[in-house]
Amino acid sequence: MKVLVINAGSSSVKYQLIDMTTETLIAKGLCEKIGIAPGSGHMKHSPQNGKPAYEVEIALPTHTDAIKAVLEKLVSPEFGVVSSLSDIGAVGHRVLNGGPKYAESALVDASVIKDIEYFIPLGPLHNPHNLSGIRACIGAMPGVPQVATFDTSFHQTMPDYAYTYAIPYKYQEKYHIRRYGFHGTSHKYVSQEAVKLLGAKAENTRIITCHLGNGSSLAAIRGGKCIDTSMGLTPLEGVPMGTRSGSIDPAIVEYIADSEKLTVAETLHLLNHESGVLGISGVSSDFREIEAVAENGGEPLYARANLALKVFYYNVMKYLASYYGALGGADAIVFTAGLGENSAEARAEITKPLAGLGISLDPEKNKVRGTVDITGNGSKVRIFTIPTNEELMIARDTKAIVER
Ligand code: AMP
Repeated sequence: MKVLVINAGSSSVKYQLIDMTTETLIAKGLCEKIGIAPGSGHMKHSPQNGKPAYEVEIALPTHTDAIKAVLEKLVSPEFGVVSSLSDIGAVGHRVLNGGPKYAESALVDASVIKDIEYFIPLGPLHNPHNLSGIRACIGAMPGVPQVATFDTSFHQTMPDYAYTYAIPYKYQEKYHIRRYGFHGTSHKYVSQEAVKLLGAKAENTRIITCHLGNGSSLAAIRGGKCIDTSMGLTPLEGVPMGTRSGSIDPAIVEYIADSEKLTVAETLHLLNHESGVLGISGVSSDFREIEAVAENGGEPLYARANLALKVFYYNVMKYLASYYGALGGADAIVFTAGLGENSAEARAEITKPLAGLGISLDPEKNKVRGTVDITGNGSKVRIFTIPTNEELMIARDTKAIVER
């Protein structure tokens, strides 16, 4: 079966077509600047069958136009990868928040669409656009099964004491306020790959996954099931990120709002978009640029760049250590996503203080890219770098649901 994976954002649609017989990528691409201005739009399509890549400025007023452009390219004689759309067996959609209802991916029907709409207040920046992608595909490919994969599903196995906030309980009941967690598809994928590397049965494993990218989160996974994760009701909680503050004293919100004469919404914008390692360093939200300034003593922001990295490493280490406690030990720690996969420095600095727990990595193996066992000599816990593949995870879930 060939599965089309769609990740529809506010002004973009990313896609991959995957052959699930061999789990190989057939084509990928993205549409950007959808509905930004009249006539605006950009598309890039990369077939993986030797045909040339295609890139064009093209008017994309709506998500429906973007999906149409994608499907056209997938069957085009010059740039296509399938002879007809009927070769596509199913479509898997990334959806941000499935609320407390969806512990698994779901075959889209009228009630699933209603639920994604109902949970828009829990994912106001994503759920509406995810839904646009689903509706556009239903319109363009009638009869082809559509599956929704929620970023929150994998974390639904958390026990109540891990997902409950210590605020008046009535608000949890009234407004569904609780920890949901995000990046679930990534945590699920890399933890399943780690189980394979451990050569163990999932039910016998304790794994801590560190998804460290522009957005970052950690998850504690026992027996293949998530028992805790660092992001919360929204992706703002947890470790500091590229531009997000991560967990802070909530009283800071009022303090900044009053002092700077900002509204709560403006203050939250500041915590989401102007904080994190960007806010501390003043350099960038991109860890490569911060690392470059942090290595050059002549740079004016040298000290702040170093502080930003230290704050980030320290907070990730704290979550790692607390999840080690929550799991009663660990069989593996996994690093993934842009920074986790690529920065040997980040992996080394985060794990260094854990030597006291008998956790250490091998400095030479740590330099190697890809899926690598970087466990140090005598370490009590295996440490892996595993490139994430959320699209493949969505495609696996989609295939499993359609074939059920
Ligand atoms: P992601 O959100 O997973 O795409 O990750 C993006 C983040 O990964 C950005 O902050 C990048 O700077 C960071 N990143 C990617 N490659 C490297 C690298 N070689 N060294 C340090 N950071 C990197």
